[in-house]
Amino acid sequence: MSPDAPPAPAWSQAQLEAAWQASQQPGLRLAFAADLEAAFQRHYAERYREHMVLGLGIGMLAIIVSAFEDFLLPPGQRAMPLFIRFGLMLPINLVLFLLVWADCWRRRQQAILLMTTLGGALGFLLMGYFSSGVYARFYVDTLVLVLIFGLVLLRLQFPYAVAAVMVIGPGAALALFNLAFPGSDEDHVIDLSLIVFAGSLCLIGNYLMERSARADFLQQQLLALRQQALEASNRHLERLLRSDGLTGIANRRYFDQHLADEFRRAERGAYPLALLMIDIDCFKPYNDSYGHQAGDEALVAVAQVLQGFSRRPGDLAARYGGEEFALILPGSGLEDAGEIADELVQAVALRALPHGASTVAEVVTVSIGVASLRPGQEPGDEAELIAHADRALYRAKHGGRNRAERASLSPG
Ligand code: GH3
Ligand code: MG
Ligand code: MG
Repeated sequence: MSPDAPPAPAWSQAQLEAAWQASQQPGLRLAFAADLEAAFQRHYAERYREHMVLGLGIGMLAIIVSAFEDFLLPPGQRAMPLFIRFGLMLPINLVLFLLVWADCWRRRQQAILLMTTLGGALGFLLMGYFSSGVYARFYVDTLVLVLIFGLVLLRLQFPYAVAAVMVIGPGAALALFNLAFPGSDEDHVIDLSLIVFAGSLCLIGNYLMERSARADFLQQQLLALRQQALEASNRHLERLLRSDGLTGIANRRYFDQHLADEFRRAERGAYPLALLMIDIDCFKPYNDSYGHQAGDEALVAVAQVLQGFSRRPGDLAARYGGEEFALILPGSGLEDAGEIADELVQAVALRALPHGASTVAEVVTVSIGVASLRPGQEPGDEAELIAHADRALYRAKHGGRNRAERASLSPG
């Protein structure tokens, strides 16, 4: 009747709320507890993959476009930077781009992005190294763009962003001051401070971006959890609304609705619809001699037997009211439904609930009226189907009870 429940999440609302509280505290800590952290990593890799692909594409474009730098060099110095740019950086970037784009190696996604960033920095540093004087500064200053590219555009996660800055900053210092890099020491100091400054700013931005990505993730999980709880409570309410408080089977309200639905469906499908009206025999004397409480228990027992006869999709066992029950059997003609009714009479008797005050047997028994109709092909609506079954039930009572009677073919 109800749709399948969505899979239960691996963490509780309390865990998520604790993580949310912790994420709102000041402090540098970003990681969640183990399970949640693993889920966040999966989410991050998926959520920002498009950004990363775009970033890597833009990176390749930037490598191509900034080739104008190489052409500003004196002709004799162009070969090496052009080779580094088009022979090394571009192909390597292309491979890394394809890896992220095709989503292979997802668990190494951040490592790939870090390699791209470091490779870009190394490439421009090398180009600077192989050019001379004022031109070298062009390339070294491009490292600022590489940092923005990696830490913002590629969405490197914070630990990887720290690693990128910790390698690029000292690496640039080492190259500029120890490798006979072209340019004066003053140039190098200015360039290096630019790089360090840009790296620090990008790190702050990167940290804040990851914090808010984590907060979004937690909110999303909390929302999903709340929605699940809401859906579960809706399903529960729906079940309550449909079921009879004492016996737990469908109540009268749901019976009416289901009968109307099945009636229309049978009309569309041009198949018969059968209805069994079931009444417990001598139930007043049962209550009188065993008490109302025992009467209730007997009603529950009979309802359970009846529920066992609701076997196919569309079948419905319901409490019609008081000690009367009903069974809707779509697709059953009078003959089939009559056989089922006979079985049901036997099954209730075999349940062997002692009934000393019965005029029929020594156990609780039922009488059943059976009717079946081809909606749309034979005259009559749901009310008429019920009336047919009721009349048959009346005959079963008068015929001695503890039996099933089929409705006569001609109505009236
Ligand atoms: P018959 O064989 O002709 O059906 O006789 P009967 O005694 O079963 O029929 P009658 O309609 O006279 O009595 C029905 C009894 O069912 C009366 C009522 O006290 C009892 N009853 C109806 N609803 C409940 C219920 O929820 N719990 C209990 N314990 N008894 C109920
Ligand atoms: Mg009755
Ligand atoms: Mg009765």
